[in-house]
Amino acid sequence: MARLIAQRAILGMSSELGRIMSAARERERTGATVIHLERGEPDFDTPPHIVEALAAAARAGETHYPEARGTPALREALVQKLERDNAMRCHPDDVVVTAGGTHALCIAFQALLGPGDELLVLSPHWMAIPKLVALAEGASYRTLPVYLDLLSGTLTPAELADRVRRAIRPETRGVYLNTPNNPTGVVLGREHLEALAEVLIERDLWVVSDEAYEHLVFDDARHISIGSLPGMAERTLGVYTFSKSYAMTGWRTGYVVSPPALRAIMGPILGFYTTHGVFPAVQSAARAAVTGPQDEVERMRRAYQDRRDLLLSELSRHPGISLSAPRGAFYAFPDVTGVLAGRDLWTLAEEWLALGVAVLPGTAFGPEYTHHVRMSLATRRDDIAAAARILVQHATGASAPSLAGRGAQS
Ligand code: PMP
Repeated sequence: MARLIAQRAILGMSSELGRIMSAARERERTGATVIHLERGEPDFDTPPHIVEALAAAARAGETHYPEARGTPALREALVQKLERDNAMRCHPDDVVVTAGGTHALCIAFQALLGPGDELLVLSPHWMAIPKLVALAEGASYRTLPVYLDLLSGTLTPAELADRVRRAIRPETRGVYLNTPNNPTGVVLGREHLEALAEVLIERDLWVVSDEAYEHLVFDDARHISIGSLPGMAERTLGVYTFSKSYAMTGWRTGYVVSPPALRAIMGPILGFYTTHGVFPAVQSAARAAVTGPQDEVERMRRAYQDRRDLLLSELSRHPGISLSAPRGAFYAFPDVTGVLAGRDLWTLAEEWLALGVAVLPGTAFGPEYTHHVRMSLATRRDDIAAAARILVQHATGASAPSLAGRGAQS
């Protein structure tokens, strides 16, 4: 047999999301109903004016090779959006259009991390991060737990700075920040971001700022881009996507904003890793998304906030499941210590699945999160209410309500 040459760490990495999703599918195959709180995909469709813009652009002949960095029209529109929404001023040549946020992160890590370099990943972190770092040859990552303490309000800006400062090693090249955060829903406020920025400037580090959920913030929370703070534009790679704000997950469109010093690097890296750019008609539609009416974004934001409120009030009926209110993104990351009763987290997740509710065990977001699960708010309101009631009743020890009488899930 030919020798296997692709011995890359990433190939051996398991996916806990894949594991729970296939267990859920297995149950569905037997005719059982499953409420899916494990996935993080908007249940809304892309707003119609964006779909129409795609069709019109394709009809108008925008079907040829694009400029690899992205069409000038979209990059111009993004420069204006970045000024409007993110208080960042940049040149169109410092924006590159990618095949989604995942790809944007991949490009950012490729640009920053070489052999022996380490990325400090604030955690719990989105589960694709280890794999994306593993794609950068010879690079590694180390996690630094911060978001749970930020969620509970027990980490002051000075303590955050101190924790980051103490974690930095000579091989640390930068920090991966994600606000609003998946999975906790933490939104870092200005003071915390300023404290973090101070350390990054002091230690001359990069930051990869993942702002995938920038428009999904609740109550009085405001999204602030760390790249807009003084002295930060030159060390920030901002990562954005159309997936969440505009319910465009399948369109695979995102972008990276980087400082002029990286201009000569970002273009060629992007060219290699996109095999020459994103479909131009999709870029026209993306332009329609950022330049057109934003009321659909607001409608979806309100819906997630409303579902968050519902989940909080349903889960508050059982003290064993404790949850501080997420302030953004579309997830809740409750502590389930009180219902684990000594069981392992996967055992609990499998028990819940047997009741018809799929959640994602916290260990997907870092090995230390053995007492948390992630529940997605990108799920129909009625399903969130039904799922929460099932879990609370189960935790209370009452005979678990059955999903049998419910109609099939769409
Ligand atoms: N960053 C975070 C924190 C995410 O949760 C996701 C998607 N779940 C992404 C980036 C990438 O999204 P996409 O590739 O769909 O743009």
